[in-house]
Amino acid sequence: MTVYKIAVLEGDGIGPEITQEAIKILKFVGSRNQIEFELNYAPFGAAAYFSHGHPFPVETKKICDEADAILKGPIGLNHEDSKTIPIDLQPERGALLPLRKRYNTFANIRPVFLPHGLAHFSPLKPEIIGNGIDLIMIRELVGGLYFGKKETGINEDGKRFVSETLEYNEDQIKRIAKVAFDTARKRKKVLHNIHKSNVLKSSVLWNEIVEEVGKDYPDIEVIPILVDAAATYLCLNPSQFDVMVMENMFGDILSDQGGGILGSLGLMPSACLGPDKAYYEPSHGSAPDIAGKGIANPYSMIGSVAMMLEMSFNMDGESNKVWQAMQSVFSKGFSTPDLSKPESKLELISTEKFGDLVLSELEQT
Ligand code: NAD
Repeated sequence: MTVYKIAVLEGDGIGPEITQEAIKILKFVGSRNQIEFELNYAPFGAAAYFSHGHPFPVETKKICDEADAILKGPIGLNHEDSKTIPIDLQPERGALLPLRKRYNTFANIRPVFLPHGLAHFSPLKPEIIGNGIDLIMIRELVGGLYFGKKETGINEDGKRFVSETLEYNEDQIKRIAKVAFDTARKRKKVLHNIHKSNVLKSSVLWNEIVEEVGKDYPDIEVIPILVDAAATYLCLNPSQFDVMVMENMFGDILSDQGGGILGSLGLMPSACLGPDKAYYEPSHGSAPDIAGKGIANPYSMIGSVAMMLEMSFNMDGESNKVWQAMQSVFSKGFSTPDLSKPESKLELISTEKFGDLVLSELEQT
């Protein structure tokens, strides 16, 4: 029997609830393929800070180092509770960015997908959605403003100041551009390059490098578009996009908008790929407003497992079946409450029930 080690970082808020459902699916897929997914749970995030004094404890690093893949739930507290943790040990700064840096997971792949039959979940009008929404956002994940030099202090005028640097070098841009071109080549051969070169010099270099890399991909049409315009067109005409590539902060913001046009952030899984290690996580946060209520949508976490099956273990067939199983649950009229609208006739179900229904759909495939 093949054994794959999975580091499971349940995280905070709804993290443990949605992770539990994703694990059900992973175990089932393993059992019918003679694969043991050895699950190694490890503390991570705010919960880890309170239990271990650090949001990314040493034992978690070891478990992640030894893992074949990492499955990570969302982390973080609400705004007020965050203040109870020293600023550098707050979950994003103390755990999430260090995790990304440790494994150099530079490529963040975020599918924004809603098939035609489920277009009613979207807040956009049917005539705008057309045949549904199907695009991929590719976000650079270990550079830019989030990882640049930071300084805070008192300036010469005695005023508090802060400075954060948006840095990229050409190798960082080149490697994410290659991922984007390769992805575009497997799809519609159109790549939207998101930038802000009318203001930011970092975008001028970004565009230069994307153009250079593009010379090796003459079959791909590159369409540069300002990030602010891209935000508008995601609402007005999302079907013009297929693959979008962008730097770190643009991707953080635009991909949440991606969740918005689908109808819920609960529909946003993701893969974070590095040269030697990948981790998989929902794009959203820990949703403290609904944590513990059993109503979170586990699609994002189960979808992250589907991406893990495909990208870490080459199990494309099983991955497709997981996606199909989730779509079938929706098509049969079930949903967690995040996707409900006054006019919809959905049967609203719990996080656990959604997981159970996905499993029973999967068992029939
Ligand atoms: P959030 O993404 O947690 O929630 C935004 C809204 O979306 C909320 O109304 C929430 O209920 C809803 N939502 C999110 N996921 C859902 C799901 N699976 N099912 C149903 N509804 C869902 O954003 P926030 O409230 O601004 O942030 C909460 C915490 O999460 C903060 O501490 C933030 O820093 C952190 N965060 C972590 C990550 C990560 O771990 N990668 C990403 C983003 C935010």
